[in-house]
Amino acid sequence: MKKISPTTQLCGVILHPAGHSRSPAMHNAAFKSLGIDARFLAFDVIPEQLASAIAGCKALGLRQLAVSIPHKQNVIPYLDEVDQVASKIGAVNTITLRENRLVGSNTDCIGLVRALERTTPLKDKRAVVLGAGGAARAAIFGLLQSGAHVTVLNRTVGKARTLLTELGGERAGALEDLAKIECDILINTTSVGLSEDISPVMSKNIPEGSIVFDAIYSPEPTRLLRDAEEKGCVSINGKWMLVGQALEQIRLWTGLCPSEQILADAFDTAGNTLSQTKKTI
Ligand code: NAP
Repeated sequence: MKKISPTTQLCGVILHPAGHSRSPAMHNAAFKSLGIDARFLAFDVIPEQLASAIAGCKALGLRQLAVSIPHKQNVIPYLDEVDQVASKIGAVNTITLRENRLVGSNTDCIGLVRALERTTPLKDKRAVVLGAGGAARAAIFGLLQSGAHVTVLNRTVGKARTLLTELGGERAGALEDLAKIECDILINTTSVGLSEDISPVMSKNIPEGSIVFDAIYSPEPTRLLRDAEEKGCVSINGKWMLVGQALEQIRLWTGLCPSEQILADAFDTAGNTLSQTKKTI
């Protein structure tokens, strides 16, 4: 990697909490492989400091800023412009400084589509999205753009209905409705499984022979993916979505396309380092 000099660019991700982030590892590995003179850091920004953090980034001239949980929706009022895709999704995970204007974009939808397309084409597939939060919005948008038929199931059914009205799709319902629905691809975008070893749906309701994707990448595998594997389904974890969205961010920011494998390896190495750190603590 090039030595830090007065021309080195600073980039980063704003999120809270920040200690688990694998974005610095992935982005710095990509910068190194592409010979880009930049460093990428994780900035722990509490919600109350979001406005000043964005103003500070603009003042410092950070040309590239990623946005993660919990700021993806709340950051929008502080931007000068939001592109069409991010406006429709209602969430921004990528900010680019262009001619002193902060422009928001969303690459989570492309990340999800890339992750699924590693296994199957999406056109005409029957996809069921579990959840109705920010990740669900990106998933529904990406799936519809790719020609899939989308059903949205959520604990709070009203939110699933709202998403259907705003974004499109065929049906909305409760998580339990999965038992009655024909499904080729099941996509979990709820946070169930992140901090406890539980699944958002009962194992018996996972459709036989389906492809099951979980946006959660740690713990790995989640309970949902273990249940899916036991039923002979193909399972995909959220790593490939995170890699795909980062790859698209780098392409947007630099016009260059890093190797997906380099990002995936950096993701794995960062995960190993984090679990070693936890054991030491
Ligand atoms: P969010 O906006 O907070 O949405 C959370 C969703 O989970 C809501 O639909 C919520 O249902 C549901 N939920 C929460 N607790 C539940 C429970 N106990 N039972 C049933 N449903 C429950 O979060 P988000 O930003 O969409 O993120 C969701 C997940 O996706 C997170 O785990 C995040 O780490 C992951 N993600 C991964 C990537 C990636 O690149 N791999 C990218 C983005 C997000 P209600 O509406 O009923 O509250």
